[in-house]
Amino acid sequence: MKGLKGKTALITGASSGIGQAIAIRLAQEGCHIAINYRKNPEAAADTAERAMQLACGQVEECGVQSLLIQADVAQEADILRMVNAVVERFGHLDILVNNAGIQTERPSHEIPADEFDRVLGVNLKGAYLCARETIKHLLDRQAAGVIINISSVHEIIPRPQYLTYSISKGGMANLTKTLALEYADRKIRVNAIAPGATATPINEAWTEDPTKKAAVESYIPMGRAGTSEEMAAAVAFLASEEAAYITGQTLFIDGGLSLYADFRETWSA
Ligand code: NAD
Repeated sequence: MKGLKGKTALITGASSGIGQAIAIRLAQEGCHIAINYRKNPEAAADTAERAMQLACGQVEECGVQSLLIQADVAQEADILRMVNAVVERFGHLDILVNNAGIQTERPSHEIPADEFDRVLGVNLKGAYLCARETIKHLLDRQAAGVIINISSVHEIIPRPQYLTYSISKGGMANLTKTLALEYADRKIRVNAIAPGATATPINEAWTEDPTKKAAVESYIPMGRAGTSEEMAAAVAFLASEEAAYITGQTLFIDGGLSLYADFRETWSA
């Protein structure tokens, strides 16, 4: 896609699932990729190896490079170290993908304060701090840049038992719009994607169980879960020059999950 070759992209939580697919896709589009992971260096190295294979094929020196960076996005000091490491290695950071995310399940009246802080700390505060450091770097360079937040359909669909997750993604919608408005005149675009049910490790509870999987898919108008690659394709588009006039938007990629499927048949009949 237009405008991605030679750019540097930092993808948080890129050692698995959607983040891994995004790193691989951006490398295929010619970006240098900084692969953030929290605790699994082997999985992060696997992301890098697969990305390089797919981006370069048999070509030894294809110009695409990767960097693995351990950092916990809930820790401000880790984020500063991570962004510095990317800039030191590549000279510039052009694209940030805030993908790292966690969820916990519990009745809303029983959530301990530290669990609340932990989920919001990774999903929302971590995304903000990564964006803040990226924006500072872009402003210093007076360079254009792109931030893409990986939100969720639960940005708009309430999710009982997953209150902290839902409100972190609801907050992410406003983070996306506020940053987009504030930095539009400095050529920094900020958008989000909102995946629906996607087959990744975060969803092992139902992806590995055919009965539960069928139950989940029965709620999806298109009748199937999404793939990480489908999410990555939209991220590549939003990061590219093809999306040069798009900012402040959340693109729902959910097979119709957010379309109020219960209205498929008219209620008045
Ligand atoms: P996943 O569990 O494979 O990916 C989450 C990644 O975040 C993991 O690699 C994990 O190590 C990393 N991470 C967690 N805490 C971190 C921290 N403190 N610092 C750095 N990295 C950390 O699941 P996924 O489905 O690929 O999720 C990726 C994103 O997509 C998440 O933000 C999630 O909320 C969002 N999402 C997923 C779905 C889905 O159905 N899979 C739907 C909507 C949104």
